[in-house]
Amino acid sequence: QNKSANWFKQVAQRAEALGQQRLRVGVTGLSGAGKTTFITSLINQLENHRKGLLARRAPFDRLESVRWQRESVEQPFPYLESLSALSSNPARWPESTADLSRVVIDLRFQPQGLLRKVQPVKQLRLEILDYPGEWLLDLPLLQLDYGQWCEQMADWLEQEPRRSLAGPLRDQLLEVDPAAPADLQQLAELKAAWSDFLMRCRTEAGLSRNQPARFLQPGSDVAAEMLEFVPLLRANRHSIAPADSWFGICSGRFDYYRDFVVRAFYDEHFRHLDQQVLLVDMLGPMDAGEAALVDLRDAMEAVLSSFDYGRSGLLARLLRFRPRIRRLAFCATKVDKVSPEQQRAVQQCLEDLLLDRLAEVRHGGVEVRGLPLSAIRATRQEGDNLIAGLEGQDGWVRYRPGSIPAHLPQSLQLDSPELLPLRPPPGLHRSEPFPHYRMDDLVAWIIEGAQL
Ligand code: GDP
Repeated sequence: QNKSANWFKQVAQRAEALGQQRLRVGVTGLSGAGKTTFITSLINQLENHRKGLLARRAPFDRLESVRWQRESVEQPFPYLESLSALSSNPARWPESTADLSRVVIDLRFQPQGLLRKVQPVKQLRLEILDYPGEWLLDLPLLQLDYGQWCEQMADWLEQEPRRSLAGPLRDQLLEVDPAAPADLQQLAELKAAWSDFLMRCRTEAGLSRNQPARFLQPGSDVAAEMLEFVPLLRANRHSIAPADSWFGICSGRFDYYRDFVVRAFYDEHFRHLDQQVLLVDMLGPMDAGEAALVDLRDAMEAVLSSFDYGRSGLLARLLRFRPRIRRLAFCATKVDKVSPEQQRAVQQCLEDLLLDRLAEVRHGGVEVRGLPLSAIRATRQEGDNLIAGLEGQDGWVRYRPGSIPAHLPQSLQLDSPELLPLRPPPGLHRSEPFPHYRMDDLVAWIIEGAQL
C-alpha cells in the first residue's frame, strides 16, 4: 500500500511539474539601490495579495494561494531576518546582502474563461535571483587582458576624484616595477589598500564603477587569495614578464578572476533568467551632485550592456551564449522621499541620464518598462509637506522636499533635492501589506511574463 501511495505521489508530482510554469526573475542594482528592501516587500505583497492593492487587479483576483518556500532553497534570501528588522521597535532597515540569494514562491491561479470549470488550476513557480549589480560591472573585463586593464586603471587614477582618493596608493603603484620579482607580502598590503580605496570611492565620492567588483562584494564562491592582485600602473598591453614577477603573478590572478569568477556568474546564473528587475538609487546621486551623476551614468551604461542584445551579437560572442532576457523593469527606487508629484520626474531624470543606452536595449529586442518605485513607504503626505521619522531618532519631522526638475539638465547640474535619512514606518507586520508606491504595478509586470 505504501508503494502505491508513493507511486501516486510521484504521478501527482509529475503532473504538477507538467502543469507548472516557471518564471526566473533577476533582481539587481548597485549596493544600496534597495534590493533587500524590495524583495522583502515583494514577498510581503504576494503573501498578502488578498488585502493590498493587488486584490483588485487581474490576474491577482484569480490568485488562490501563495507559498513562499522556506526549505530546500540554495542560498536563500533572508526574508524572516529582514522582516524582523523592519518590524522591530524602533523599526530598522534590513541588512543589505553582499552575495547572491534566492527566493522561490509558488502561486496557484484559478483558470479563466469559458473552460475554467474543466481546466486544471494554473501553477506558477516564481524564482527570484538577487545579485549585486556590481557583478555586472565586471562584464567589460571579459574582453580585456591584464595589461589593458592596467592601462585603463592608470587612466582612471589620473582623473579626479579618484586621483585624490587614491592619494599615496597611486605613487606606490607607480613605483612597482612590473618585471621585478613579486613581493607577496607587499602585494597583499597593496590589495588591501586598493580595496580601501574602492570603498572610499563609493562612500566618500558616491562613485559606482569600482573594479574589480568582487573586492567590495566578494560573494561566497571565490577563494580569497585569488583576489590578491592590483593594477600595476607602469604595465601595459605590451608588457611581458616572468611568471614570478609582479606582472606574472597579478596577470595570472586577473585571468583566473576574469575566466572563473566573472564568466562563471554569467554561465551559471545569468543565462537562465527570463526577465530582470533593475533598481537604481537615482535620488542619492542627484543629491551628491554632478560627479556622482556622471559615474552613475557610466556604471549603469556598463550594467545595461548585459541587456543589450542588438549589436550584432557582440555580447553573445563575449559570453559564448545567447541571453534570453526579454523584459526589463528599470526602476528609480525610494521615491517616497519626494512628493508623489515629483516621483515621475525622478524616473524621467533617470531615463534622461541613460537615454541612448536604453534605446539600444530596446532596439536589441528587450521590452523595457520604467517605474518609479518605493518598496516600503516611509513618508506620509500632508499638503505640500512630507512627514517621516529620522533614522536613529524618535519622533517625526515635517519637511518639504527640494526641487526635482521635469527633465535632467544636460549639464547635470541640479539644486540638491535635500534628502533625509528616514527610518521605516512603524507597525510593519508580516501579515499586513507594507505601504509602498507602485509595487503592485511591478508585481503585475513580473507576472505578465507567464501565461495564466
Ligand atoms: P541593497 O544594498 O540594494 O540591498 O539595498 P537595501 O535594500 O539594503 O536598501 C538600502 C537603503 O536604502 C536601506 O537601508 C534604506 O535606508 C533605503 N531604502 C530602501 N528602500 C527604500 C524605500 O522604499 N523607501 C525609503 N525611504 N528608503 C528605502
